[in-house]
Amino acid sequence: AKAANKGGVMHFSREMNNHLQESMWLDGGLRQALQEGQFSLHYQPQVCLRSRRATSVEALIRWQSSERGMVPPLSFIRYAEDSGLIKPIGRWVIREAMAQARRWSSLPQPLRISVNLSARQLGDPELLSDFMAAMQQHGFKRSPLDIELTESCIASDEGRTIEIMSALRALGVNIHLDDFGTGYSSLSQLTRLPLQVIKMDQSFIRAIPADARSMALLRSMVAVAQQLDFQIVAEGVETDSQLDFISEIGVDLAQGYHFARPMPADQLEQWLQQHGK
Ligand code: C2E
Ligand code: CA
Ligand code: CA
Ligand code: CA
Repeated sequence: AKAANKGGVMHFSREMNNHLQESMWLDGGLRQALQEGQFSLHYQPQVCLRSRRATSVEALIRWQSSERGMVPPLSFIRYAEDSGLIKPIGRWVIREAMAQARRWSSLPQPLRISVNLSARQLGDPELLSDFMAAMQQHGFKRSPLDIELTESCIASDEGRTIEIMSALRALGVNIHLDDFGTGYSSLSQLTRLPLQVIKMDQSFIRAIPADARSMALLRSMVAVAQQLDFQIVAEGVETDSQLDFISEIGVDLAQGYHFARPMPADQLEQWLQQHGK
């Protein structure tokens, strides 16, 4: 038993060591990425199911590392949040998306851009001034950007969260709740918050058409969200049968590989032209 225990400890510390090394690499790498401009934004259209037009896009960060090539956000956002680097990274995202919104303001149809915010950013006292400074720099009186928050952003201090959300609302920011259905909040709790859009988590869309229980759950969540006057987005839509089902149950907007992958701004412009926008 002793030997096995010892083996367990050794295994554990090797994992710790790998984790530490990865954190150290990320720390240097992310700082360098900020300095050397290795981040970019890709944009994925959100299509209105009624008009079949893209009315908005989600901005998703991309990191082209000189050492490792393209590093997916899921392998660095967590570290960025824990270390606090998410603040300068998030500030870069807001500025870059605002600059893009300026370039797209001459499109024939308005296109809103939503950016993802981490809990740490929502708690950052400078978030509002960052937003206002970026708006001012690009000549916007009302924000062309919306934000996507997850339930974890809201959990901690509801009063303060509502205050920040309301201040952003006053700038013209629409607030989307991301990954809904994976946390513990109910739709009725959400009515206390100044939210406009509910984004059903990908796991519910992935369950179509095989998992009847998840589909029933999705159908009822959409029905309640509709009653409460939220706009409803389905993300991760990949197949015809998924599209048929979400259209039938009353989802407003859809996003996913079925329509387009996230892509650089110039490719998105071509996509918009080809799709009759
Ligand atoms: P998310 O906000 O839930 O974004 C949706 C993810 O699903 C994106 O992954 C997107 O590329 C992917 N996706 C879109 N359509 C489909 C589909 O049809 N099928 C499948 N299987 N996946 C699809 P991505 O770009 O790797 O981003 C992962 C996560 O990283 C995001 O999840 C978000 O939580 C975070 N993230 C991305 N950009 C930012 C950012 O600028 N700031 C912050 N704080 N987080 C970000
Ligand atoms: Ca999102
Ligand atoms: Ca999501
Ligand atoms: Ca997610």
